[in-house]
Amino acid sequence: MLGTLLIVSGPSGSGKTTLCRRAEKDGLTAYSISCTTRQPRPGEQDGVDYHFLTPEVFAAKVAAGEFLEHATVHGNSYGTLKSDIIDLLQAGKNVVMDIDVQGAASIRACDDATIRRAYADVYIHVPADELEARLRGRQTDAEEVILLRLRNAAEEDARMGEYEYALVSADRESDYSRFSALLTALGMRTPLR
Ligand code: 5GP
Repeated sequence: MLGTLLIVSGPSGSGKTTLCRRAEKDGLTAYSISCTTRQPRPGEQDGVDYHFLTPEVFAAKVAAGEFLEHATVHGNSYGTLKSDIIDLLQAGKNVVMDIDVQGAASIRACDDATIRRAYADVYIHVPADELEARLRGRQTDAEEVILLRLRNAAEEDARMGEYEYALVSADRESDYSRFSALLTALGMRTPLR
């Protein structure tokens, strides 16, 4: 039976990465590792957090049509390899993809039959003042980066209506219990619909 492809979007600081990682750790899903041209942050590992690629290698994969989707976010390229996702779904694994609204839109438009059957999406929404507090509390990004992310968050929120599900972020435990319940329900969709 085909796994579920759950697209998870929301601004930086929404906790979407934490939700996806925890679902993976609990064995609910496989996590797809994206490619990016940005520099690793302290503690990030190549092949674990991202495949960190040079702009030249990234461009060659775009030209070869290897990406399911790719986009420019905060001035860097990000993308997900098609082959990675389809292999996992066909092996019956659920896949969560932590991607921005542009990436989600391009996957929604994908004409691959396996991807279309497996597809579902959820937007993680955080009220604006709460989001600012979280971004400042994390202390990994420069002020200008925080301001850019807040502006981007407002733009991303405007596209929440493109998603089938919305999760309004409250606290870590409540967010995760609703997220895992959604994955369980999606696994109960009829295979022949
Ligand atoms: P960060 O640099 O903070 O890890 O991620 C920045 C943004 O890039 C986040 O909004 C994240 O969701 C997005 N992102 C990560 N991987 C991908 C991907 O494969 N495709 C797209 N389109 N966006 C991604």
